[in-house]
Order: sequence, then C-alpha cells, then structure tokens
Amino acid sequence: RFNDITMAPPDPILGVSEAFKADTHEMKLNLGVGAYRTEDLQPYVLNVVKKAENLMLEREENKEYLPIEGLAAFNKVTAELMFGADNALIQQQRVATVQGLSGTGSLRLAAALMERYFSGAKVLISSPTWGNHKNIFNDARVPWSEYRYYDPKTVGLDFDGMISDIKAAPDGSFVLLHGCAHNPTGIDPTPEQWEKIADVIQEKNHIPFFDVAYQGFASGSLDEDASSVRLFAARGMELLVAQSYSKNLGLYAERIGAINIVCASSDAAARVKSQLKRLARPMYSNPPIHGARIVSNVVGNPELFNEWKEEMEMMAGRIKSVRQKLYDSLCAKDKSGKDWSFILKQIGMFSFTGLNITQSENMTNKWHVYMTKDGRISLAGLSSAKCEYLADAIVDSYHN
Ligand code: PMP
Repeated sequence: RFNDITMAPPDPILGVSEAFKADTHEMKLNLGVGAYRTEDLQPYVLNVVKKAENLMLEREENKEYLPIEGLAAFNKVTAELMFGADNALIQQQRVATVQGLSGTGSLRLAAALMERYFSGAKVLISSPTWGNHKNIFNDARVPWSEYRYYDPKTVGLDFDGMISDIKAAPDGSFVLLHGCAHNPTGIDPTPEQWEKIADVIQEKNHIPFFDVAYQGFASGSLDEDASSVRLFAARGMELLVAQSYSKNLGLYAERIGAINIVCASSDAAARVKSQLKRLARPMYSNPPIHGARIVSNVVGNPELFNEWKEEMEMMAGRIKSVRQKLYDSLCAKDKSGKDWSFILKQIGMFSFTGLNITQSENMTNKWHVYMTKDGRISLAGLSSAKCEYLADAIVDSYHN
C-alpha cells in the first residue's frame, strides 16, 4: 500500500532553488539551476518570443491535437537549424525528426528506442555529466558507463582518458556527447579534438548521441555551436541529436525540443520515425503546440530570426562579461597565486569552480550562495554587481 512508500531524496539541481527561496539574506545568490537572468537577476522573456506569441494571437490559431510526431513546421526548422538548411541530409530526407518534451523528453524518447532496438547496448556518458542523464538511462533501462572527461588537476579536459575509454567500450556502443557548452564543466573539445573523437567512434562502430541544450548560447553563434554535430554528420555517420529550446529561446516551461536521428537512407529514416511515434503514443500521446509554434514562427521568419540572434548574442555576451569580471575579482582578491584562468577558458552558462563538497557547502552555509555540490555555478544567475561578493565567497571557501 502507499503507506509503505519511502520519501524520495530532493533533486540535486531543482532542490537548490527550493533552499534558495527559503533564505532571506540580502546578498543571496542562486547559481544552481541553469536559467538566464537579467543584470537585475530577473527571469527574461525574449522580445522575439513575445512577438511570435502576438502573431499567434492575431492568427487566432486553434488548440487541436498535434500529430504524434509534433508540428510539421517546427520539425522542419529544427532539423535545419541543427544541420544547416542546405545540408544534403535534409534534402535526402535521411533525418527522422520528432518533436519532444524539450531536451529531457527527447533524450528519454531516444533512450526508449535504444532499449527496444539495441537491447543490451550500453551508452557511454561523460564523467561528470548533467545529473539527469543517469536518471534518464536508468529509467529507460539502458545500461551506461562513464568515460573520463574532466581532469581536476588542470580543471580542463582529460582528452587521453576520454579517447582510451571510448576505445575500450564494446563495439557498437552509444556515446553521449554534449554538442557545445558541456554541462557541468563548461569545457569543450577543440575542433581538432572533435575530429579525433569522431575517428575513434568510427573505428569502433559506435553511435554518437549528441545532447544539444545550448545551441547559440556557447559562442553566441547558432552555426558555430552546431559545428561538432555537423562535423560528425559530414562523415556520413548515423547519429542522434537531442535539441532543447529551454535556454536559447528561454522557453523553459514550454517543454519544446526535438529528437533527430540521422539514418543511412530515407527509407530507414521513415521506419525509425514510425517507431519513435509508436514509443511516444503510450507515454504522452502527442506533444504541446505552444512552444512549437513559437519556434517555427521565430526561425521561419527572417526578421524575427535575425532579432533572435541579436538577443542571443546579448545573453551570451552578458554571461561572458560576468565571467570576465568574476575572473578579475578572483585574481584581485586571492593572494595565494592560484591560477584562475580556467574560468575564462570555460564556455556557456556554467563554470566548474573546482570547489569540493565541503567547500561548496561553505559557499551556501556561510555566504548564501546556492550551487550544486559538484562545484558548478551558473553564471547566467550572476550579476555584474555581485561578482566581487562571489569572488570573496569562492576565495574564502577555497582556503578554509
Ligand atoms: N541536456 C543538458 C546537458 C542540459 O543541461 C539540459 C538542461 N539543463 C537538458 C539537456 C534539458 O533541459 P530541458 O529538458 O529543459 O530542455
């Protein structure tokens, strides 16, 4: 009976926001969840989103069910945004695209396909990775193991470890890769390193599975942030790409994203798509329409599309400027001679500070800075005005 059910632990990321709300200190900072904030630390709705919503109201669009695979106009533009509109893959109809419940739901749908059609195959995930990856594969009953990624000594990429772990995995494994702005470390491979990663994956007949939650948010350019995926696709490999519009369009609560599976032929893509639909139907029947319409209106309208790019550059630019200011403040305040340059080398919303669990707890308990216990801070939740305060907290936590 229900009485025997035990209490589940709070989510390590979303639980941080709950603790933050309960704190009344005036300098408190929520650097837990990766959500963009303005310089006043308020949530931000993009102007292009408001404009797209106005267009939707003017057109008096209805609320009929979408097909299982989602809004056709959305599926078209989302694949084009990822692979490039002129990519031969698109003309050849080799991409099976299905609208998903944002990045998480798209990953979960792909995991269900892996469990059903690649029974026993495992997926390699980076150590560390976004906390929910393990939950997703566990719940879908897809076995996983980790490949080395982060090197605590350099606060950089353990490239040799990564390559040797990918080599050591059984042939035909899935390899989960963060397309850009690796979460939680903010450390991405260089273009040369991506080529070598692709070499090994091809040699081993592995299947690359890209998680792209930050397209446009890492470099500020949509194309540049898709370059890892496009590099693999250009080699003619079969691959998966999960997309999310939570961050780059600020559509967190709309739950809009997609799963794209690049197949060897249009015929295979049609079959794969039919199976994705078959998996989606008993789980949630069909996806929500609002976010899909926003994305298709923004991406499909040249004027709004350009405005979106400007707004994204503004958001990515604000994050870069607080990153720089945090670095400058750390250098000014820390007299120990520690090299903080890793902060500047990292990209995207997050910075991996290298603070351990006890130090991260000091950040929260003494300084009211809320963050995940792995030492990750979301720079999207930091204002320029609070950089010095944060630097004091980090320096104190490091040395005590
Ligand atoms: N993958 C990664 C690496 C992420 O950081 C996130 C968001 N935190 C997601 C996927 C999915 O987020 P959402 O479900 O909101 O799209």
